[in-house]
Amino acid sequence: CALTIEAAAMAGVPLAGTSWIPDLVEFAREKGVKYFMISYTDLFGAQRAKLAPAQAIADMQENGAGFAGFATWLDLTPAHPDMLGMPDAASVIQLPWKKEVAWVASNCVMSGNGPLDQAPRNVLGKLVAEAAGMGLEVKTGVEPEFFLLTPDGKAISDSADTAVKPCYDQQAILRRYDVIAEISDYMLELGWEPYQSDHEDANGQFEMNWKYDNAMATADKHSFFKFMTRAVAEKHGLRATFMPKPIMGMTGNGCHAHISVWTRDGRNAFSDDSKDLSLSDEGRHFLGGIMKHASALALPCCPTVNSYKRINAPRTSSGATWAPNSVTWTGNNRTHMVRVPGPGRFELRLPDGAVNPYLLQAVIIAAGLSGLKSKADPGRRWDIDMYAEGHTVTDAPKLPLNLLDAIRAFDEDTELKGALGDAFSAAFIKMKTQEWNAYTAHLTQWERETTLDI
Ligand code: ADP
Ligand code: MG
Ligand code: MG
Ligand code: MG
Ligand code: MG
Repeated sequence: CALTIEAAAMAGVPLAGTSWIPDLVEFAREKGVKYFMISYTDLFGAQRAKLAPAQAIADMQENGAGFAGFATWLDLTPAHPDMLGMPDAASVIQLPWKKEVAWVASNCVMSGNGPLDQAPRNVLGKLVAEAAGMGLEVKTGVEPEFFLLTPDGKAISDSADTAVKPCYDQQAILRRYDVIAEISDYMLELGWEPYQSDHEDANGQFEMNWKYDNAMATADKHSFFKFMTRAVAEKHGLRATFMPKPIMGMTGNGCHAHISVWTRDGRNAFSDDSKDLSLSDEGRHFLGGIMKHASALALPCCPTVNSYKRINAPRTSSGATWAPNSVTWTGNNRTHMVRVPGPGRFELRLPDGAVNPYLLQAVIIAAGLSGLKSKADPGRRWDIDMYAEGHTVTDAPKLPLNLLDAIRAFDEDTELKGALGDAFSAAFIKMKTQEWNAYTAHLTQWERETTLDI
């Protein structure tokens, strides 16, 4: 069954929000690209790709690249027909560190049966389209933190990086200049408008920031950033990890999202100088949706067993975890789940480095639109140090304490599940429950130490 990009678009398979869609054959000829990585992201956030020579890309652009869906985390069986990755040419990026290769995000379509509902990029595409139908464009920026480790993943790569308060460590970031500047140069070259990089709050931890964009473009860039950061780190004999809590006792890898909503005429709908924190009524309602669905958002935002060692964590060696523990919001104060740092946007501090880039954007839009439609109230603003005075907050839910709690909270939120699509939600719960079961089936050293002599 041959599906053209146009047919895929008509079948509801999303295309990224640019008006200029390059022809991939032309792109290859112009840029000297020899191979395309036709890539998709599965439910667990793993990126999968087929490497197709430029000579074959015309056919792939028209008919898609074939995959056995069961071989990845998508809740398909070995008996399912082929899954096709339909390249979204608008997302194509020539690898700045390997110019003969280009990466292109693809949308998953089942052979003869239309788009695969549970594929994360399809879920996001539907929500982007829903927002567009309301005349709105959600724009976001993400802050994916990462550690640079030794290649075996066991230690911080820089043995001199030992400060108790290592945030913004000037000496340490210069020791990793070759890696950080190389990634930053590539972002400059790609036109992402990077504007700063820093050493973060854990030893061996870094963050690099680039300009916000529409939700689909940010999801594609976020995916590509992880791919690029790992690749550049490997090139330098290091290992980059976005794992939420790779080292106990140290600050974990967050992936905060900054969010604003824009109207068709290019107005920031969150900005209103006459309101508290310059947050408009629309902004408050969107935030209200995030607050209302927060317990359920924990599963997609903090999707692994390890994620729950980052949120709700005890104080780290630097003095603070910088991660939230409860469903609270505030002004420019980093101890809450949501922070309003300035006019026209707010920051969701819940997501961690394991978040699926597409699902992160999808759940933000799903929860936010639900808030807009119901004119949700975000509740009171807490201007306290949540780490020191959190016990005084009695009427805000605590975030889930582990993956199972999170799965259950997500499962209870019928409205959010519906907004993301019932097929997706069922598949996600099923796969995450399997992951939890695999974890609990694992006999740990801790159990032996605490139970052997009982
Ligand atoms: P912080 O560490 O203070 O939370 P960063 O500077 O590291 O902030 O990251 C801020 C992110 O927010 C960047 O990706 C930036 O482009 C993005 N951002 C800035 N303004 C907006 C906006 N109006 N809407 C969405 N994202 C925004
Ligand atoms: Mg084969
Ligand atoms: Mg930051
Ligand atoms: Mg940070
Ligand atoms: Mg932040």
